[in-house]
Amino acid sequence: MKIIDVDIVSFRVTSNMSATKWGYSEWVPETEVIRSFTRIRTDDGLEGYSEQGFPYYFYTPSQDEIEQLVKPLLVGEDPFDRERLWHLMARHNRFAEGLLGNIDCALWDLAGKFAGLSVSRMLGQARNKIKAYASTAPNLGDPDEYAAHAVRCKEAGYTAYKVHANIFWNPRTRQPAPGRPAFPKEDVEICAAVRDAVGDEMSLMLDPWGVYTLEESIWVGREIEQLGYKFFEHPMHERLIEPYRKLCEELRIPVCGPELAPGGHFTRGEWVLQHATDIGRTDVNFGGITGVKKTLDMYESFGMKCEIHVGGSGNSQILAATEEDTCEYYERGLLTLDMVHPDTAPYLQAPVDPMDENGYVSVSEGHGLGVELDWDYISRQSATE
Ligand SMILES: [Mg+2]
Repeated sequence: MKIIDVDIVSFRVTSNMSATKWGYSEWVPETEVIRSFTRIRTDDGLEGYSEQGFPYYFYTPSQDEIEQLVKPLLVGEDPFDRERLWHLMARHNRFAEGLLGNIDCALWDLAGKFAGLSVSRMLGQARNKIKAYASTAPNLGDPDEYAAHAVRCKEAGYTAYKVHANIFWNPRTRQPAPGRPAFPKEDVEICAAVRDAVGDEMSLMLDPWGVYTLEESIWVGREIEQLGYKFFEHPMHERLIEPYRKLCEELRIPVCGPELAPGGHFTRGEWVLQHATDIGRTDVNFGGITGVKKTLDMYESFGMKCEIHVGGSGNSQILAATEEDTCEYYERGLLTLDMVHPDTAPYLQAPVDPMDENGYVSVSEGHGLGVELDWDYISRQSATE
Protein backbone atom coordinates (compact mmCIF):
# COMPACT_ATOMS: atom_id res chain seq x y z
CA MET A 1 0.00 0.00 0.00
CA LYS A 2 1.19 3.51 -0.82
CA ILE A 3 0.19 6.98 0.35
CA ILE A 4 -1.23 8.88 -2.64
CA ASP A 5 -2.43 12.13 -1.07
CA VAL A 6 -2.56 14.16 2.13
CA ASP A 7 -5.07 16.98 2.59
CA ILE A 8 -6.96 18.94 5.21
CA VAL A 9 -10.66 18.54 5.96
CA SER A 10 -12.01 21.88 7.25
CA PHE A 11 -15.44 22.73 8.62
CA ARG A 12 -17.17 25.43 10.64
CA VAL A 13 -18.01 25.02 14.33
CA THR A 14 -18.79 27.45 17.11
CA SER A 15 -16.33 27.99 19.92
CA ASN A 16 -16.38 30.04 23.10
CA MET A 17 -12.62 29.96 23.60
CA SER A 18 -10.34 32.66 22.28
CA ALA A 19 -6.63 33.45 22.68
CA THR A 20 -5.61 36.60 24.54
CA LYS A 21 -2.69 38.71 23.35
CA TRP A 22 -0.62 37.19 26.17
CA GLY A 23 -0.94 33.71 24.75
CA TYR A 24 -3.48 32.18 27.08
CA SER A 25 -7.15 31.41 26.46
CA GLU A 26 -10.23 33.18 27.71
CA TRP A 27 -13.90 32.31 27.49
CA VAL A 28 -15.91 34.53 25.16
CA PRO A 29 -19.43 34.49 23.65
CA GLU A 30 -19.77 31.79 21.00
CA THR A 31 -18.18 32.65 17.67
CA GLU A 32 -17.74 30.67 14.46
CA VAL A 33 -14.30 29.17 13.93
CA ILE A 34 -12.78 26.77 11.40
CA ARG A 35 -11.72 23.32 12.62
CA SER A 36 -9.49 21.06 10.55
CA PHE A 37 -8.01 17.60 10.60
CA THR A 38 -5.52 15.90 8.34
CA ARG A 39 -6.57 13.12 5.97
CA ILE A 40 -4.06 10.61 4.55
CA ARG A 41 -5.28 8.68 1.49
CA THR A 42 -3.85 5.46 0.07
CA ASP A 43 -3.93 3.75 -3.32
CA ASP A 44 -6.36 1.09 -2.08
CA GLY A 45 -8.93 3.66 -0.92
CA LEU A 46 -8.12 3.49 2.80
CA GLU A 47 -8.01 6.80 4.72
CA GLY A 48 -6.62 7.84 8.10
CA TYR A 49 -7.55 10.97 10.06
CA SER A 50 -5.72 12.94 12.71
CA GLU A 51 -8.96 14.03 14.42
CA GLN A 52 -8.87 13.51 18.21
CA GLY A 53 -12.56 14.22 18.86
CA PHE A 54 -11.50 16.98 21.24
CA PRO A 55 -12.55 20.56 20.59
CA TYR A 56 -9.29 22.45 21.12
CA TYR A 57 -5.56 22.36 21.87
CA PHE A 58 -4.22 19.89 19.32
CA TYR A 59 -1.93 21.04 16.52
CA THR A 60 -3.66 21.95 13.26
CA PRO A 61 -1.42 21.93 10.17
CA SER A 62 -1.65 24.74 7.65
CA GLN A 63 -2.26 24.08 3.97
CA ASP A 64 1.31 25.29 3.32
CA GLU A 65 2.74 22.74 5.74
CA ILE A 66 0.81 19.95 4.03
CA GLU A 67 1.94 21.05 0.55
CA GLN A 68 5.55 21.97 1.33
CA LEU A 69 6.53 19.51 4.06
CA VAL A 70 4.13 16.61 4.45
CA LYS A 71 3.30 15.62 0.88
CA PRO A 72 6.90 15.69 -0.43
CA LEU A 73 7.94 13.42 2.46
CA LEU A 74 4.97 11.03 2.62
CA VAL A 75 3.42 10.59 -0.83
CA GLY A 76 4.66 7.31 -2.32
CA GLU A 77 5.60 5.87 1.08
CA ASP A 78 4.16 2.76 2.74
CA PRO A 79 1.81 4.06 5.51
CA PHE A 80 2.65 1.06 7.71
CA ASP A 81 6.30 2.19 8.04
CA ARG A 82 5.33 4.37 10.98
CA GLU A 83 8.61 4.09 12.86
CA ARG A 84 10.72 4.91 9.79
CA LEU A 85 8.43 7.81 8.84
CA TRP A 86 8.44 9.06 12.46
CA HIS A 87 12.24 9.38 12.35
CA LEU A 88 12.15 11.07 8.93
CA MET A 89 9.70 13.65 10.32
CA ALA A 90 11.52 14.03 13.67
CA ARG A 91 14.84 14.74 11.91
CA HIS A 92 13.29 17.20 9.43
CA ASN A 93 14.36 20.65 10.64
CA ARG A 94 11.19 22.39 9.39
CA PHE A 95 8.72 19.84 10.77
CA ALA A 96 7.06 21.22 13.91
CA GLU A 97 6.73 18.68 16.71
CA GLY A 98 2.95 19.12 16.69
CA LEU A 99 2.88 18.44 12.96
CA LEU A 100 4.82 15.22 13.52
CA GLY A 101 2.25 14.26 16.19
CA ASN A 102 -0.65 15.11 13.90
CA ILE A 103 0.65 13.00 10.99
CA ASP A 104 1.68 10.11 13.23
CA CYS A 105 -1.86 9.96 14.71
CA ALA A 106 -3.37 9.86 11.20
CA LEU A 107 -1.00 7.00 10.27
CA TRP A 108 -2.06 5.03 13.37
CA ASP A 109 -5.73 5.71 12.57
CA LEU A 110 -5.19 4.40 9.05
CA ALA A 111 -3.36 1.28 10.26
CA GLY A 112 -6.11 0.53 12.80
CA LYS A 113 -8.76 0.88 10.12
CA PHE A 114 -6.82 -1.57 7.93
CA ALA A 115 -6.36 -4.05 10.77
CA GLY A 116 -9.92 -3.67 12.08
CA LEU A 117 -8.54 -2.86 15.54
CA SER A 118 -8.42 0.12 17.88
CA VAL A 119 -5.01 1.73 18.36
CA SER A 120 -4.94 0.45 21.96
CA ARG A 121 -5.40 -3.14 20.71
CA MET A 122 -2.66 -2.63 18.12
CA LEU A 123 -0.32 -1.38 20.84
CA GLY A 124 -1.45 -4.12 23.22
CA GLN A 125 -4.29 -3.27 25.55
CA ALA A 126 -3.71 -3.01 29.29
CA ARG A 127 -7.23 -1.82 30.29
CA ASN A 128 -10.35 -0.37 28.70
CA LYS A 129 -11.49 2.00 31.46
CA ILE A 130 -9.39 4.89 32.76
CA LYS A 131 -9.90 6.75 36.04
CA ALA A 132 -10.84 10.35 35.21
CA TYR A 133 -10.23 13.60 36.99
CA ALA A 134 -12.46 16.60 36.52
CA SER A 135 -10.20 19.31 35.13
CA THR A 136 -11.55 22.79 35.73
CA ALA A 137 -11.36 25.60 33.27
CA PRO A 138 -9.16 28.37 34.73
CA ASN A 139 -10.45 31.59 36.22
CA LEU A 140 -13.84 30.25 37.33
CA GLY A 141 -14.36 32.70 40.16
CA ASP A 142 -13.99 32.81 43.91
CA PRO A 143 -13.19 29.93 46.30
CA ASP A 144 -16.88 29.24 47.02
CA GLU A 145 -17.65 28.83 43.32
CA TYR A 146 -14.80 26.32 42.87
CA ALA A 147 -15.90 24.48 46.02
CA ALA A 148 -19.53 24.16 44.85
CA HIS A 149 -18.33 22.94 41.43
CA ALA A 150 -16.03 20.34 43.01
CA VAL A 151 -18.95 18.99 45.07
CA ARG A 152 -21.08 18.65 41.92
CA CYS A 153 -18.22 16.80 40.18
CA LYS A 154 -17.89 14.46 43.17
CA GLU A 155 -21.64 13.78 43.02
CA ALA A 156 -21.31 13.01 39.28
CA GLY A 157 -18.84 10.22 40.12
CA TYR A 158 -15.39 11.79 39.82
CA THR A 159 -12.89 10.58 42.39
CA ALA A 160 -10.38 13.31 41.53
CA TYR A 161 -10.52 17.03 40.75
CA LYS A 162 -7.83 19.31 39.34
CA VAL A 163 -7.88 23.03 39.99
CA HIS A 164 -6.77 25.48 37.33
CA ALA A 165 -6.93 28.61 39.45
CA ASN A 166 -5.99 32.16 38.42
CA ILE A 167 -3.99 31.81 35.21
CA PHE A 168 -3.13 34.85 33.09
CA TRP A 169 -6.01 36.39 35.00
CA ASN A 170 -6.35 38.97 37.75
CA PRO A 171 -8.90 37.70 40.30
CA ARG A 172 -9.25 41.22 41.73
CA THR A 173 -10.35 42.82 38.45
CA ARG A 174 -11.69 39.51 36.98
CA GLN A 175 -9.96 40.35 33.71
CA PRO A 176 -7.30 38.59 31.56
CA ALA A 177 -3.76 39.57 32.59
CA PRO A 178 -0.15 38.94 31.46
CA GLY A 179 0.62 35.96 33.75
CA ARG A 180 2.92 37.89 36.10
CA PRO A 181 2.25 38.81 38.81
CA ALA A 182 0.66 35.51 39.78
CA PHE A 183 -1.84 35.19 42.64
CA PRO A 184 -0.52 32.35 44.82
CA LYS A 185 -2.42 33.43 47.94
CA GLU A 186 -5.75 33.53 46.10
CA ASP A 187 -4.94 30.19 44.44
CA VAL A 188 -4.30 28.52 47.80
CA GLU A 189 -7.59 29.93 49.12
CA ILE A 190 -9.35 28.16 46.25
CA CYS A 191 -7.45 24.92 46.97
CA ALA A 192 -8.39 25.10 50.66
CA ALA A 193 -12.08 25.76 49.93
CA VAL A 194 -12.20 22.79 47.54
CA ARG A 195 -10.59 20.44 50.07
CA ASP A 196 -12.95 21.66 52.76
CA ALA A 197 -15.99 21.08 50.54
CA VAL A 198 -15.19 17.60 49.16
CA GLY A 199 -13.64 16.01 52.25
CA ASP A 200 -10.50 13.91 52.54
CA GLU A 201 -11.22 11.02 50.20
CA MET A 202 -11.26 12.90 46.88
CA SER A 203 -7.88 13.22 45.13
CA LEU A 204 -7.04 16.85 44.37
CA MET A 205 -4.40 18.45 42.18
CA LEU A 206 -3.32 22.00 41.35
CA ASP A 207 -2.09 23.26 37.97
CA PRO A 208 -1.06 26.94 37.93
CA TRP A 209 0.18 26.59 34.32
CA GLY A 210 3.68 27.83 34.90
CA VAL A 211 2.94 31.27 36.37
CA TYR A 212 4.87 31.00 39.68
CA THR A 213 8.46 31.83 40.62
CA LEU A 214 10.50 29.23 42.53
CA GLU A 215 9.77 30.99 45.82
CA GLU A 216 6.03 31.09 45.12
CA SER A 217 6.09 27.45 44.03
CA ILE A 218 7.78 26.36 47.26
CA TRP A 219 5.22 28.31 49.33
CA VAL A 220 2.18 27.03 47.40
CA GLY A 221 3.57 23.48 47.29
CA ARG A 222 3.93 23.40 51.08
CA GLU A 223 0.43 24.80 51.55
CA ILE A 224 -1.20 22.20 49.30
CA GLU A 225 0.90 19.46 50.92
CA GLN A 226 -0.89 20.39 54.14
CA LEU A 227 -4.20 20.14 52.29
CA GLY A 228 -3.34 16.60 51.14
CA TYR A 229 -3.13 17.42 47.43
CA LYS A 230 -1.93 14.55 45.24
CA PHE A 231 0.34 16.37 42.80
CA PHE A 232 1.48 19.87 41.87
CA GLU A 233 1.58 20.30 38.11
CA HIS A 234 3.59 22.68 35.93
CA PRO A 235 4.11 25.39 38.56
CA MET A 236 6.90 27.30 36.75
CA HIS A 237 8.03 28.14 33.25
CA GLU A 238 9.35 24.98 31.64
CA ARG A 239 12.30 26.50 29.81
CA LEU A 240 13.96 26.31 33.24
CA ILE A 241 15.11 22.96 34.61
CA GLU A 242 17.26 23.94 37.61
CA PRO A 243 14.44 25.63 39.60
CA TYR A 244 12.37 22.48 39.09
CA ARG A 245 15.21 20.37 40.51
CA LYS A 246 15.35 22.67 43.56
CA LEU A 247 11.56 22.56 43.92
CA CYS A 248 11.51 18.75 43.89
CA GLU A 249 14.17 18.79 46.61
CA GLU A 250 12.11 21.16 48.76
CA LEU A 251 8.68 19.53 48.49
CA ARG A 252 7.17 16.23 49.54
CA ILE A 253 4.19 16.62 47.16
CA PRO A 254 5.11 15.17 43.73
CA VAL A 255 5.84 17.79 41.06
CA CYS A 256 4.34 16.89 37.67
CA GLY A 257 5.83 18.02 34.33
CA PRO A 258 7.10 19.09 31.90
CA GLU A 259 3.83 19.55 30.08
CA LEU A 260 4.75 21.93 27.27
CA ALA A 261 8.53 21.58 26.95
CA PRO A 262 9.33 20.67 23.33
CA GLY A 263 11.38 17.62 22.43
CA GLY A 264 9.20 14.69 23.50
CA HIS A 265 11.03 11.82 25.16
CA PHE A 266 14.44 13.32 24.32
CA THR A 267 13.78 16.39 26.52
CA ARG A 268 11.92 14.46 29.20
CA GLY A 269 14.84 12.05 29.55
CA GLU A 270 17.04 15.02 30.52
CA TRP A 271 14.48 16.13 33.12
CA VAL A 272 14.54 12.64 34.61
CA LEU A 273 18.36 12.68 34.80
CA GLN A 274 18.24 16.09 36.51
CA HIS A 275 15.60 14.88 39.04
CA ALA A 276 13.64 17.96 37.94
CA THR A 277 10.26 16.23 38.10
CA ASP A 278 8.60 13.46 40.13
CA ILE A 279 5.79 12.62 37.68
CA GLY A 280 6.22 13.07 33.92
CA ARG A 281 3.77 14.64 31.51
CA THR A 282 3.13 14.53 27.78
CA ASP A 283 0.42 14.17 25.12
CA VAL A 284 0.12 13.31 21.43
CA ASN A 285 1.12 16.85 20.39
CA PHE A 286 4.62 15.69 21.37
CA GLY A 287 5.33 13.12 18.68
CA GLY A 288 1.96 11.43 18.25
CA ILE A 289 1.13 7.90 19.36
CA THR A 290 4.65 6.74 18.48
CA GLY A 291 6.32 9.58 20.39
CA VAL A 292 4.16 9.28 23.51
CA LYS A 293 4.70 5.52 23.64
CA LYS A 294 8.46 6.07 23.59
CA THR A 295 8.07 8.66 26.38
CA LEU A 296 5.95 6.38 28.56
CA ASP A 297 8.35 3.46 28.15
CA MET A 298 11.17 5.81 29.17
CA TYR A 299 9.34 6.89 32.36
CA GLU A 300 8.35 3.29 33.12
CA SER A 301 12.00 2.27 32.93
CA PHE A 302 12.77 4.76 35.72
CA GLY A 303 9.82 3.57 37.83
CA MET A 304 8.13 6.93 37.33
CA LYS A 305 4.55 7.83 36.57
CA CYS A 306 3.62 10.03 33.62
CA GLU A 307 0.23 11.71 33.66
CA ILE A 308 -1.17 12.31 30.18
CA HIS A 309 -2.08 15.90 29.35
CA VAL A 310 -5.62 16.68 28.06
CA GLY A 311 -8.22 14.26 26.76
CA GLY A 312 -9.08 13.13 23.28
CA SER A 313 -8.95 9.90 21.39
CA GLY A 314 -5.20 9.46 20.79
CA ASN A 315 -4.37 10.05 24.43
CA SER A 316 -7.13 7.70 25.63
CA GLN A 317 -5.96 4.96 23.26
CA ILE A 318 -2.44 5.24 24.69
CA LEU A 319 -3.80 5.25 28.25
CA ALA A 320 -5.67 2.02 27.45
CA ALA A 321 -2.37 0.50 26.30
CA THR A 322 -0.48 1.54 29.47
CA GLU A 323 -0.79 0.26 33.03
CA GLU A 324 -2.41 2.42 35.71
CA ASP A 325 0.86 2.20 37.67
CA THR A 326 2.45 4.39 34.97
CA CYS A 327 -0.48 6.55 33.80
CA GLU A 328 -3.17 6.88 36.43
CA TYR A 329 -5.63 9.42 35.02
CA TYR A 330 -7.58 10.65 32.03
CA GLU A 331 -7.91 14.48 32.14
CA ARG A 332 -11.60 15.25 31.54
CA GLY A 333 -12.47 18.84 30.76
CA LEU A 334 -11.98 21.67 30.74
CA LEU A 335 -15.10 22.16 32.82
CA THR A 336 -16.70 25.54 33.40
CA LEU A 337 -18.95 26.11 36.43
CA ASP A 338 -22.06 24.96 34.56
CA MET A 339 -20.47 21.67 33.40
CA VAL A 340 -19.60 18.40 35.10
CA HIS A 341 -19.24 16.62 31.74
CA PRO A 342 -17.54 18.03 28.63
CA ASP A 343 -19.87 18.89 25.76
CA THR A 344 -19.79 16.50 22.79
CA ALA A 345 -18.59 18.40 19.71
CA PRO A 346 -21.31 18.66 17.01
CA TYR A 347 -19.14 16.89 14.40
CA LEU A 348 -19.02 13.72 16.53
CA GLN A 349 -21.61 10.95 16.60
CA ALA A 350 -20.51 9.92 20.09
CA PRO A 351 -18.40 11.42 22.87
CA VAL A 352 -14.79 10.22 22.99
CA ASP A 353 -14.74 10.00 26.78
CA PRO A 354 -18.04 8.72 28.23
CA MET A 355 -17.73 8.35 32.02
CA ASP A 356 -19.52 5.92 34.31
CA GLU A 357 -20.91 6.64 37.78
CA ASN A 358 -17.65 5.45 39.37
CA GLY A 359 -15.61 8.09 37.55
CA TYR A 360 -14.05 5.85 34.87
CA VAL A 361 -13.89 6.81 31.20
CA SER A 362 -14.36 3.98 28.70
CA VAL A 363 -12.04 3.89 25.70
CA SER A 364 -13.45 3.47 22.18
CA GLU A 365 -13.08 0.06 20.56
CA GLY A 366 -13.69 1.69 17.17
CA HIS A 367 -11.02 1.04 14.57
CA GLY A 368 -7.94 3.26 14.61
CA LEU A 369 -8.38 6.26 16.90
CA GLY A 370 -12.04 5.27 17.25
CA VAL A 371 -13.45 8.75 16.62
CA GLU A 372 -17.02 8.53 15.26
CA LEU A 373 -17.17 11.49 12.88
CA ASP A 374 -20.49 12.91 11.70
CA TRP A 375 -19.72 13.27 8.00
CA ASP A 376 -23.12 14.84 7.30
CA TYR A 377 -22.27 17.67 9.69
CA ILE A 378 -18.74 17.98 8.29
CA SER A 379 -19.92 18.25 4.67
CA ARG A 380 -22.80 20.58 5.58
CA GLN A 381 -20.38 22.88 7.42
CA SER A 382 -17.49 22.36 4.99
CA ALA A 383 -14.86 25.06 4.77
CA THR A 384 -12.43 23.08 2.64
CA GLU A 385 -10.97 25.24 -0.10
MG1 LIG B 1 -1.48 21.46 32.80
